Amino acid sequence: MSERKDLPERESMEFDVVIVGAGPAGLSAAIRLKQVNPELTVVVLEKGAEVGAHILSGAVVDPVGIDRLLPGWTKEEDHPFKTRVRDDQFLFLGPAGSFACRIS
Ligand SMILES: Cc1cc2nc3c(=O)[nH]c(=O)nc-3n(C[C@H](O)[C@H](O)[C@H](O)COP(=O)(O)OP(=O)(O)OC[C@H]3O[C@@H](n4cnc5c(N)ncnc54)[C@H](O)[C@@H]3O)c2cc1C
Repeated sequence: MSERKDLPERESMEFDVVIVGAGPAGLSAAIRLKQVNPELTVVVLEKGAEVGAHILSGAVVDPVGIDRLLPGWTKEEDHPFKTRVRDDQFLFLGPAGSFACRIS
């Protein structure tokens, strides 16, 4: 392959692992890799303006995954989940009115 002489030389950085996307999957993978082997160099690339730009809407989150990944995360002062879900109700909306369906 011929190199174009009119372009500036490209910078490059080497990492053991490159993760594309800083959504829950990418961030979890990066955290887990560093937990398993802190020596690994891991980079997460995100096309959004900031990490989390495209993440959850903030409605409801099942913490089962984060509980396993980061035990004790609820003791961190600045974690974003402030309100515990105590009850779920599903409403079926129709022309004749609505009815609730209890999920337990
Ligand atoms: C409107 C809406 C509301 C939701 N509400 C909830 C909720 O309340 N609770 C819940 O648990 N789940 C919710 N979800 C689902 C949740 O957002 C997804 O399950 C979750 O984000 C999936 O995580 P992910 O890491 O697989 O993908 P994503 O979160 O989509 O992360 C992928 C990331 O990769 C980046 N990316 C993509 N291509 C490139 C590239 N070429 N280069 C660099 N970066 C790239 C994207 O910008 C993005 O940040 C909601 C989803 C939507 C759409």
